Amino acid sequence: MSSVVQKASSNVRAAVSQRALTFDKLKTALFFYVVWTNSLKLYRHLCARGIASTLTDVYKWVAQKVILLVLRMPKMKKKVETEMAKAKIDIESKLVPQGPNVIRHLSLPSQGKTSDWITQEMQRMDEEMGNEVDWRSGKLSGAVYHGGPDMEQIIVAAFQRYCVSNPLHPDVFPAVRKMEAEIVAMCLRMYNNPDGAGTTTSGGTESIVMAVKTHREWARLEKGITEPEMVVPESAHAAFDKAADYFKIKFHSIPVDPVTRQVDLKRVKRAINANTIMLVGSAVNFPDGNMDPIPELGALAKKHNIGLHVDCCLGSFIVPFLDEAGFSEFPDFTGTGGRKKVPLFDFRVPGVTSISCDTHKYGFAPKGSSVVMYRNAELRRHQYYLNPEWMGGVYASPSLAGSRPGSLIAGTWAAMQYMGRDGYLASCKSIVSCARKIGQAITDSIPELYVLGNPPASVVAFASRSPQVNVLEVGDKMRQKGWHLNGLMRPAAVHIACTRLTVPIVDQFIADLKDSVNEAKLSPSGQGSMVAVYGLGTSSAVGPKMVSRLATAFLDALYKA
Ligand SMILES: *Cc1c(COP(=O)(O)O)cnc(C)c1O
Repeated sequence: MSSVVQKASSNVRAAVSQRALTFDKLKTALFFYVVWTNSLKLYRHLCARGIASTLTDVYKWVAQKVILLVLRMPKMKKKVETEMAKAKIDIESKLVPQGPNVIRHLSLPSQGKTSDWITQEMQRMDEEMGNEVDWRSGKLSGAVYHGGPDMEQIIVAAFQRYCVSNPLHPDVFPAVRKMEAEIVAMCLRMYNNPDGAGTTTSGGTESIVMAVKTHREWARLEKGITEPEMVVPESAHAAFDKAADYFKIKFHSIPVDPVTRQVDLKRVKRAINANTIMLVGSAVNFPDGNMDPIPELGALAKKHNIGLHVDCCLGSFIVPFLDEAGFSEFPDFTGTGGRKKVPLFDFRVPGVTSISCDTHKYGFAPKGSSVVMYRNAELRRHQYYLNPEWMGGVYASPSLAGSRPGSLIAGTWAAMQYMGRDGYLASCKSIVSCARKIGQAITDSIPELYVLGNPPASVVAFASRSPQVNVLEVGDKMRQKGWHLNGLMRPAAVHIACTRLTVPIVDQFIADLKDSVNEAKLSPSGQGSMVAVYGLGTSSAVGPKMVSRLATAFLDALYKA
């Protein structure tokens, strides 16, 4: 009996200890799994960022925490808050009309107004605020992509005809559906992919956000990627960061070559790993108008079976015409671009999976219009949103918006028909000539400044090579002469995106720029808005946090009636 019990109990003990053993093994396995995945994450992060910039990041992070702690001390906090409050009032006073005499329309009029009243009131409001920058003078960078005096009529006529139309209901507005499909088809041919697919969107940002969403879905379904990452040049548009932020995608920002301003391919290669869903290249980028090496990026995308989005939002209706317009080579502002051919950047490059093209930039379409294109219709399907079980009915929509303005589609279609290939070719010739003239003038006759890279299209950015000249101060002096240019960071620089409005006043721009450089050298005020904002942003580790607070105050002020 006892031997039986003994045997049984020893069996049980063995079983228990065996179980304990497996439990222990499991615990160890789990421990190593956690260590392994986190090491992998750290390793991938180090590969993408490099050891030096990771250490700089850590240093910055620590410095930021320390300064923030100091700023939280009651005395400092009070000082910061008073300064912020002052800045906020300053921002509001610039944007929102002040005083007891301002008429505000804060609730619905109890009785509807007449059409005459509306026109008069709009005129009065225009006069009440005045405008600091008169866009018709042409003295501004980008912002208004004007298609000439007749274009306004063409667009308004299209708006009027299709005022209430909504492409969400193609059975009610069949012509709008057809025009939308034709806009996409025309762009696909322009970017050499007639058999591809695409959709219209509300602007470049939506095109980019949609392309990122499409690649994320594609990678999840085709490759099982659940922790997506994307590899993006730091010169790419902020819309990519925005998309990564919205969709929780890990974002690797890759530096550009300091001379050519093209993305550093070695760093791109290092950042690619098993979770990468897509690469990005710009043709051309917003900050300095340079073009990333798209064929090389395409080869990398193909090798790793991942996507490559080429951002042609700004290049739009300029870059497809460069060759024909006689600009098949890069300019040579740096001594590195001499007689180098502009390579292919569209769907002819193997590996390119999507392209965004803003009809509302150099296409001269009304604002709120862009196109996102894919290599094939299969890829486009990952952009769609479908809900077959919605209580409100089967719901299917191609992009972010539900209801959409058919009038914008009609306006865009009309603008493209009105311009035609010859119109866009002529606009490319005059705009790119204008940009090259500015770049050449800076290179040849303004020794204090240099052009960033060898921008092939419409944008020219310049930085200072003289310790006596702060380029942001030059931007502020230009502002005093009526020019509205863009300030840039890393390095501090200023750019102009030439438009048709810039073309007739290019000589004045160059003359004003020379004067501004001299004035900035002789009498720097240090008070202009470019110096203030970008000076603050780069002043210390918490600079960006402070600028973010100011930017938030700015956004709040936009909605102050
Ligand atoms: C303008 C622009 C975009 C998108 O901008 P939207 O203002 O949303 O139309 C994207 N990329 C580049 C390079 C741009 O210049």
